[in-house]
Amino acid sequence: MEEEKDTVDTIQTQIPEKRAPPREAARAPVRGEETERHMSQAETNPTAPTTPERREHNGRYDLHIHSAISDGTQSLEELVPLIAQTGLAGFALTDHDTASGWDRASRLAEEHGLDFLPGAEFSCRYHYTEDRPRTKTIHLLAYGFDPVHSELAHRVEQIRLSREGRARAILERLAADYPLTWDDVLAQVGEGNAAVGRPHIADALVAAGIVRDRTEAFNRLLYTGSPYYVPQQALDPVEAVRLVREAGGVPVIAHPMSTMRGPALSLDYLGKLVDAGLAGVEVYHRENSAEDRARLLKFIEERRAAGTDLLVTGSSDYHGAGKPNLLGENTTDAATVARIREQIA
Ligand code: AMP
Ligand code: FE
Ligand code: FE
Ligand code: ZN
Repeated sequence: MEEEKDTVDTIQTQIPEKRAPPREAARAPVRGEETERHMSQAETNPTAPTTPERREHNGRYDLHIHSAISDGTQSLEELVPLIAQTGLAGFALTDHDTASGWDRASRLAEEHGLDFLPGAEFSCRYHYTEDRPRTKTIHLLAYGFDPVHSELAHRVEQIRLSREGRARAILERLAADYPLTWDDVLAQVGEGNAAVGRPHIADALVAAGIVRDRTEAFNRLLYTGSPYYVPQQALDPVEAVRLVREAGGVPVIAHPMSTMRGPALSLDYLGKLVDAGLAGVEVYHRENSAEDRARLLKFIEERRAAGTDLLVTGSSDYHGAGKPNLLGENTTDAATVARIREQIA
């Protein structure tokens, strides 16, 4: 499914996001460290009986999950019991641009016997060519950073607060052609939401019967570069990695290898992020193809040989009904989670 685009823009545009590659068959763990796991329907169905596959999740974590605090469709009260039912040992909440769900998620996790790792996902953008004004958007996951007294928190709060004005600007453009109001958008924004954005506008378009689902809303009207699109403020990726480290957090690049539309993140640029302090790479994500994963693992192996030990994670990027991604479809092992915790300053 399409996550935020590997943006190719002139000034502000991204092209439509790539489609997720088809799911691959489950396979053996790589170097005993991280595996991808694909859940069967039964695994995600809370009422399904426990199966051997469900027990495979034992001890494993899903480190990239969104709630309705950003653009997931489920409240933490709905979401955390579902995570517990998958048989996962723990999870990270990684809502876009906010840490506001951490306290409640941590309490709910404890109630449901889950280990909780606090996180967030930050949008970053950079110019990937010197000669042309093209930019690329990437997402940085950050675990365990100081959400209050840090430069990172300050910068992200500014960006977060600008989200409403930007969403209203998109709505105004849409309202010139479609019968849609700001109230229609607000009706899709859950209580306590901290990061309004295109997904909520998409949901309003669905509710108004203008499109069938979020995907169609993005593909037809909300893709970056669409006449209705207005860009969101974003951090520079290298700066974001530094800010996360300075805030005591652990930066992990999210779904780094979308290649279907626009160029993938180059390994060259990934190297720059590593030099800036990147801690890990989300290798096992449905938007990284098997080939991408192999390239990433090779890169990580080379870096390891040169003395930098990057963490390898796998996660679902679950958004409730907002995307087809299933809880626990990719996971991370407990040893890697322990290493993330060791790095939290
Ligand atoms: P925004 O931050 O408002 O620009 O919205 C970007 C978010 O929209 C991403 O983080 C994704 O979660 C979501 N998104 C992007 N493309 C799609 C799509 N095609 N279908 C569903 N959700 C999408
Ligand atoms: Fe999202
Ligand atoms: Fe993302
Ligand atoms: Zn995400």
